[in-house]
Amino acid sequence: MQPDIVIIGSGIGGATVASGLAGSGAKVLILERGERLVASPEAHNSHAIFVNGHYRPKEMWRGIDGTEFNPGNYYYVGGNSKFFGAVLLRYRREDFEKMEHYGGVSPAWPFPYEELEPWYGRAEQLFQVRGALGEDPTEPFHSTPYPFPPVPDEAPIARAREELKRLGLHPASLPLGVDIDAWLKQGRTPWDAFPNTGTGKMDAETAPLKQALVDGDIQLLTSAYVETLHPSPDGKYITSVTYTHNGERKTVTPKLVILSAGAINSAAILLRSGSLANSSDQVGRNFMNHNASAMLAVHPFRRNDSVYQKTLMLNDYYLSDGMGGKPLGNVQLLGKINGDILKANVRSVPKFALDFMAGHAVDWYLMCEDLPNPESRVLVDGKGIILQWQRSNLESLERLTRVMREHFRAAGYPVVLNRPFDRRTPSHQCGTIRMGNDAAMAPLDPYCRSFDHKNLFVVDGSSLPNSAAVNPSLTIAAQALRVADHIRQTELAA
Ligand SMILES: Cc1cc2nc3c(=O)[nH]c(=O)nc-3n(C[C@H](O)[C@H](O)[C@H](O)COP(=O)(O)OP(=O)(O)OC[C@H]3O[C@@H](n4cnc5c(N)ncnc54)[C@H](O)[C@@H]3O)c2cc1C
Repeated sequence: MQPDIVIIGSGIGGATVASGLAGSGAKVLILERGERLVASPEAHNSHAIFVNGHYRPKEMWRGIDGTEFNPGNYYYVGGNSKFFGAVLLRYRREDFEKMEHYGGVSPAWPFPYEELEPWYGRAEQLFQVRGALGEDPTEPFHSTPYPFPPVPDEAPIARAREELKRLGLHPASLPLGVDIDAWLKQGRTPWDAFPNTGTGKMDAETAPLKQALVDGDIQLLTSAYVETLHPSPDGKYITSVTYTHNGERKTVTPKLVILSAGAINSAAILLRSGSLANSSDQVGRNFMNHNASAMLAVHPFRRNDSVYQKTLMLNDYYLSDGMGGKPLGNVQLLGKINGDILKANVRSVPKFALDFMAGHAVDWYLMCEDLPNPESRVLVDGKGIILQWQRSNLESLERLTRVMREHFRAAGYPVVLNRPFDRRTPSHQCGTIRMGNDAAMAPLDPYCRSFDHKNLFVVDGSSLPNSAAVNPSLTIAAQALRVADHIRQTELAA
């Protein structure tokens, strides 16, 4: 097939833009370096996943200090979403505006929340989000309700919800793309960080890609590793894409190229292609992740026998520290931790002690905004990736840690432990090819089109101008649907 459009990558960005182009009549080829995940015993085995790193890539990146590390960045059909916690949460309205943080300024988007709102609603339908409106004080305006009611709290979590309410906090149901009955039928495990080899989790493969591939004009080619893009002699267009498939090098010449390889790999592909789309010198810069910690609230005499746990969030400190100060961040449950998961992080403690601790803890995830910094960047060294992540705004995480430790103690958990996530986990990577109104400051326009090359779009976490302090997937998906509509109107209209 000679495609009209090539999409590079089948993660949330690539698969969702493909679903938005379905039925347009355009011939679309999705080039994905990974294969489909298939069912296997490892998919339900936490030792295989967390201790043996069964699904991690056979790839090493270099960090800011020059040392190598094996990143938790997944190359399968569906990308990182195959492992995601399926929290499908909108950025708050204020996240689209300039906001002062303890560590600096979070910049405004090139458009307000209201512009993206209709596509947020469509993305919630596409990913069949389970949620409840009216519980969270920071909730932005929704023009459409959630398509399904929330995933139910398990008994220990229903109790934690009441304990937090008694403290005057506002625990709210996490919006989730999970059909809990279908998920648990395959194995009684959490879904967060566990691979989806079935149908219970609505990820990029099981939701938008499945829908896109119903259109016979959209094709997926797996094990297709994109190496470089090539510009026209005048530099104004991308003329071809080179990839290897089964060891063979191939070239394709579409009318439109949509780069959706994830925030780190999309930047790497442009840099390897002779620094394309980079007249602003911002490609690979402004890398953001989140500043995040795991916090275990332990009650030594009370077992937490939850299977999945992950149904609550707290945004009481999202817009302010509660005393009129600056924002701190979001707090949400992790998938239920067990001794294997702890062992992967603290190898020196005996497993029986970790099993006991995990069995008596409610496990939380504290997430604070990382701020854009041009020196926080992705660089390439031949085929290799160098990730020079400069963390920012750590004061917010310290303050949120202090305040939540106090709350969990007051709620009746005498032991509260916490541990920050490290650089090996670039789960919420974004910002490396940002959008903006000014071509001198941003590689992409507000529809994710390259200012330099008219037929190049970048549709994934790269384009986000800020990281906010919520999980990014629903925002990537909403923007992908908006971009697909723009392409239909400007490029495909008869
Ligand atoms: C354990 C975990 C839990 C998470 N939980 C949540 C959550 O609960 N909620 C949430 O919103 N987010 C969560 N995230 C983050 C979320 O998964 C990502 O933000 C999202 O999947 C990013 O989508 P993307 O399209 O930007 O990139 P990716 O998912 O990285 O997709 C990029 C795709 O491109 C492919 N690719 C890369 N390079 C090439 C190449 N050279 N040639 C061809 N193909 C290529 C990759 O294989 C991949 O399929 C989590 C992530 C992890 C790892």
